[in-house]
Amino acid sequence: MNFASLSQNELEQLHGKFSASYEQFKAEQLSLDLTRGKPSSEQLDLSNELDGILEGFYLLQDGTDVRNYGGILGIPEARALGGEMLGLPASEVLVGGNSSLTLMYNYLDFMNGAEWAAEAAAANGKCKFICPVPGYDRHFTICERFDIEMITVPMIDGGPDMDQVEKLVEADPLIKGIWCVPKYSNPSGHTYSDQTVSRMAALPKIAGKHFRIMWDNAYSVHHLGDQQDQLANLMETARKAGTEDSVVMLASTSKITFAGAGISFLGAAEVNLKAFEKFMSAAVIGFDKVNQLRHVRFLKDGATLAEHMKKHARIMGPKFQMVLDKLDAALGDAGVAEWTKPNGGYFISLDTMPGLASEVVRLAADAGVKLTPAGATFPYGVDPEDRNIRIAPSFPSTTQLDKAMDVFVTCIGLASTRSLLDQS
Ligand code: PLP
Repeated sequence: MNFASLSQNELEQLHGKFSASYEQFKAEQLSLDLTRGKPSSEQLDLSNELDGILEGFYLLQDGTDVRNYGGILGIPEARALGGEMLGLPASEVLVGGNSSLTLMYNYLDFMNGAEWAAEAAAANGKCKFICPVPGYDRHFTICERFDIEMITVPMIDGGPDMDQVEKLVEADPLIKGIWCVPKYSNPSGHTYSDQTVSRMAALPKIAGKHFRIMWDNAYSVHHLGDQQDQLANLMETARKAGTEDSVVMLASTSKITFAGAGISFLGAAEVNLKAFEKFMSAAVIGFDKVNQLRHVRFLKDGATLAEHMKKHARIMGPKFQMVLDKLDAALGDAGVAEWTKPNGGYFISLDTMPGLASEVVRLAADAGVKLTPAGATFPYGVDPEDRNIRIAPSFPSTTQLDKAMDVFVTCIGLASTRSLLDQS
């Protein structure tokens, strides 16, 4: 039933029901967490074989001893694995430490310390980045750290609103890049359409050669079931457009093996990769090649990796389904919230009625359910409409998730009915 079509009396009754359930949950003194997208222990267990997999063999075919210093670009076998994930030849891949976020940070540091800062100084202005919203909060934090101003563009079906993106870069030469999570986006779960990928590849022609498309493909292989999204290869498209120098691709095994002890990948055209390698050589002599070799032995190739990801999907799929079922059952036709139904990734993105997201998060916290702070999916932590909430179903057990979702939908019901009553 659509809440907005209820009479004042019916709305008051419904509000009373939500209030009563809410008070019951509060009395249970719960302590549940739906915040960060961390893999569950059950998922981490899928990769326990990594431990000891080398059985004392540390030499590569070319005689390299992976225990020793050196080789910033990574071992050839791991570069090939990263190439398979990113859709690049191994020669265009650097294999980093346990975090692709670190590589993103380092890459922006690299660009900012060189061309970007010089151009900003010459124009007496500030560098800017386009941030599709809702988006990944840690991308925004990197921009803040480098004092790069963030300009938001809404995500629509098929990716960011490219009409707006093109207009923006045309109007301002100090826009130096865009953040993209092109597949199973964080948090909406959208995958960019072929047309978005083509238009993205053409952007540097408008924006100039120092523009960078930060293509964070963190969820490229993270399907939830048999229905899988397909993403066009940005680098191939960019090569045809002659813009490959603007493409920076990222991925990691964080949500494939061990989130805190995986390996990460940065892909870029060879000349760019060389320049970045030189920049990194001031900070590192070589990343952890032992871990790179362990990952190569364990994940082997694209086919083995796909089989491994099916095991994750068998754990994650039912959790996502539970969240969607709970939302549908409680709010399906209430007209007070909208949410995404992704085929992969780690999140479901939910929009409340305008102005209610922080209230829902506060109510949930008071009832012992931690949610990602409202606004976190927007630059500077400010969601102008105060609507978006990111749900991360991966970490809690199904029992905990079941309870947390009951509390969550009750909080939405409570806040929405109160707001409708206030308006009437
Ligand atoms: N990129 C996106 C879009 C993410 O959602 C996350 C983690 O949630 C990361 C990067 C972090 O990746 P890593 O563990 O490789 O630093």
